Amino acid sequence: MVEYLTEAIILDKRPDKNLDAVFTVFSRNLGKVYGKATSSRKITSKLASHLEPGTLAKIRLARKSVGDNFRIVEALAEAKRSDPETIRFLMFLDKMVPASAKDEVLFMFCREVIKDPEFSEKMAYRGLLKIIGLDPDKACCAVCGSRKIAYFSSQDIMFLCRQCGKKRYGY
Ligand SMILES: [Zn+2]
Repeated sequence: MVEYLTEAIILDKRPDKNLDAVFTVFSRNLGKVYGKATSSRKITSKLASHLEPGTLAKIRLARKSVGDNFRIVEALAEAKRSDPETIRFLMFLDKMVPASAKDEVLFMFCREVIKDPEFSEKMAYRGLLKIIGLDPDKACCAVCGSRKIAYFSSQDIMFLCRQCGKKRYGY
């Protein structure tokens, strides 16, 4: 059995067989990984409240050997921010971050987003994009080249100005 103790942000939760659930977590030490928690959907589960999306928690992950799936065996919530804007931001983070790629700088930034309610939605997105190498301050519209960026499309990984965004996506 290999065990890892790490801080992690819970990004997503999907039901699995019986009362189990599979969680997507962005961890400090391992990057984005998936972990199963047995019986975590039981109302009496001690883990459940510590593993809600939007939670920053200390978690213990275990697996039989490298290459096996993780199980979440322990979780202790440190902070939580689960308003709709933050959940949307975490879904965006999930989309932009590849699995199993450790990124401590990005983790520490997202940790602050969860812990500090002063972090606005705009600051969160700008910070995330900057860290993954898509700096909105240096970007220009992918269609017309304007420097006045208004949108970022996570689908197409490109920035757009207000006019072109409206045309393309009807924002
Ligand atoms: Zn444009």
